Amino acid sequence: KLTELNANHVLHPMSMPAFDNEQPLFVERSEGVHVYDNTGKQYLDGLGGLWCVNVGHSHPKMVATIQEQAAKLAYYNTFGDVSNRPSVELAEKITGMLKPEGMSKVFFTSGGSDSVETALKLARHHWRLKGQSDKTQFISLKNAYHGVHFGGTSLNGMQNFKQNYGPLLPGCSQVDGPFPYRNPWTNDLEELGQICADILERKILHDGANNIAAFIAEPIQGAGGVIVPPANYWPLVREICDKYDILLIADEVVTGFGRSGSLFGVRGWGVAADIQCFAKGISSGYIPLGATVINDKVAEPFLEAAPNAFVAHGYTYSGHPLACAVGLTSLNIVEEENLVENAGIVGDYLLQQLQPLVERHEHIGEARGKGLMAALDLVTDKQSKTPVDPASGYSDKVSAICQENGVLIRSVGPKIILSPPLTFTKENVDTMVNTMDLAFSQVSL
Ligand code: PMP
Repeated sequence: KLTELNANHVLHPMSMPAFDNEQPLFVERSEGVHVYDNTGKQYLDGLGGLWCVNVGHSHPKMVATIQEQAAKLAYYNTFGDVSNRPSVELAEKITGMLKPEGMSKVFFTSGGSDSVETALKLARHHWRLKGQSDKTQFISLKNAYHGVHFGGTSLNGMQNFKQNYGPLLPGCSQVDGPFPYRNPWTNDLEELGQICADILERKILHDGANNIAAFIAEPIQGAGGVIVPPANYWPLVREICDKYDILLIADEVVTGFGRSGSLFGVRGWGVAADIQCFAKGISSGYIPLGATVINDKVAEPFLEAAPNAFVAHGYTYSGHPLACAVGLTSLNIVEEENLVENAGIVGDYLLQQLQPLVERHEHIGEARGKGLMAALDLVTDKQSKTPVDPASGYSDKVSAICQENGVLIRSVGPKIILSPPLTFTKENVDTMVNTMDLAFSQVSL
């Protein structure tokens, strides 16, 4: 009955049309690193929901916060001069965590796409207030994912996320980012970082710095396949943005609050962005919440122009008290339970344990990652590194066998993506990797 109603009435993200009456996985309950379906079967959650359940499922402190705050104040708006305690406390917490980067002000949103859209609008508005109203264009990276709104869609690097939605926002273009495993230039990481930084600089010179508002990138590309840039790339990008007076936006929707093994993605490269976009881990996915955080440099013209710098941008749920209370508890748990450190240690172990799979299985070209975000790159053969055709269903079959065996991983085109809760243990890694090993042994291309 549920299956039939689902097929008849629910449009599922990223899988339309899902009208084939296939038996979906009905997730009914969750606890810690596990979820349970409607038959009571247990699954190890190798996805953290969708890169987001950082503190683990059904954490008692999260449940208590939801109950207490819902009983006190679930919702009121924060437009203009209206405020509430949870949103102020969460803003204090986030800016405290981001003190080394000099981030000082938080704009709350309802999710990652909203945070990206907010960043783009704040960037344009910033330059307009500074009298540089030609600075409207944005540069992003090939292979990037910045969400579903038209700004983000226009900046997405992956064609499948944009090809049906034109005309897109003018003034958005993509340049090559460093992809160590698959690039036409070099195997030398430092050289690769320099080549891609040069590409960005040439693009800025070509389009004219006076026309460019910002460069936006994920510290580690997530949906594009967990692509970790070389050590010199982010510092070089920071230098270039400073040289040409272009704002640097870090889309930390996946990397924010610990997933990459440092509290923030760009911090892992010793770099501070001007604007950071957050969602997912900010509330561990228990409730929709996002945030766009800016430094003093970005905030300055708004403060100078006050009270005339009217920001005509805000979400009904900006500063949502229930969401912000949950966010604060989530970030406190990340600190109390040393989850950033755990993500680093267990993440290193995960990468180590994935290597034998690369050696053992013909169609795994590479295992890569940082912290508790990892990917397997699936190839037709290891010499050519040609990605397997997603239409072959190869990676879907691998993930289906894992699911049968009680482990949830994600197949995205020619990649397998792993992003478990930051509470994952080495034992959990062993279970996940052994199950994947079994699945790869059973599937052929
Ligand atoms: N930016 C990045 C880097 C993301 O990974 C995502 C979502 N996976 C988004 C933005 C969009 O976030 P949301 O789905 O919450 O709108």
